[in-house]
Amino acid sequence: MNPTIISLGLAGLTAAAVTTAAPAPSPRVTNSAGVVGYKSTPGLPGTPWHVHDPDRPQPVVVTPGTFSSQETTGQPPSDAIVLFDGKDVAKWQSAKGEPTNWKVEAGAMFPGKGDIVTKQEFGDLQLHLEFCTPPPNGKSGQGRGNSGVFFMGRFELQVLDCYENKTYPDGQTGSLYGQQPPLVNACRAPGQWQTYDVAFTAPRFDADGKLLQPAYITAFHNGVLVQNHVAYGGPSSHKVLGNYDKPIPPAGPLRLQDHGDPVRFRNIWVRPIPPAGK
Ligand code: MG
Repeated sequence: MNPTIISLGLAGLTAAAVTTAAPAPSPRVTNSAGVVGYKSTPGLPGTPWHVHDPDRPQPVVVTPGTFSSQETTGQPPSDAIVLFDGKDVAKWQSAKGEPTNWKVEAGAMFPGKGDIVTKQEFGDLQLHLEFCTPPPNGKSGQGRGNSGVFFMGRFELQVLDCYENKTYPDGQTGSLYGQQPPLVNACRAPGQWQTYDVAFTAPRFDADGKLLQPAYITAFHNGVLVQNHVAYGGPSSHKVLGNYDKPIPPAGPLRLQDHGDPVRFRNIWVRPIPPAGK
């Protein structure tokens, strides 16, 4: 075949391919802040923003923290509210609003007598907390290193030493006490520092006090997922079913339980969660 015809044929193919793949004229825009995006794209339902809208508010910049080791505590993120940094219990009080008698020693706090609550109240919340259960001393079941973290003062994420220690599953470490066992048992041995990282969503009620949405929790124990967007059936209780018969205020304190065991805590910080970006 004539080489000229072959090369013309290839050129024709190439031109056709380019024509097919050519993008539509670019609708990209640059806003006054220099952000490049699109304004001719579909609107995102429930928002005033387009897909890839450059004018949508930029997320706030947060400097991430660092992880703890057994020996040292990590740093919280830059916007965290630190509830306990190893020095004092100034952010806490007794459940009756009196000064707490919990003690601080070697950078950790542990029960005096009675539960303690934060002076500040929270609704939707990210929590980081570290705990260390005491030597078993022959105890078993619920008697071993028992404490608890209560969101809004009501919704418990159980603290217990379940390292080679069996108890009823809806009462073990990482359970929603009396309601939902953890997905797995991720306990470290007593005497080791352990972590909880939690996203908690407060329940919602309408103006008449009718439940619109229950409280939800997602929780990681030592970095392992133990609760994945699980609904609380109501405030936590012992041997009783929780319910939402009574409306719950939109915010409440974080509460730590004194169950008579010297469970130690350190590096407690929270970040209130704003409504999802609109
Ligand atoms: Mg407990």
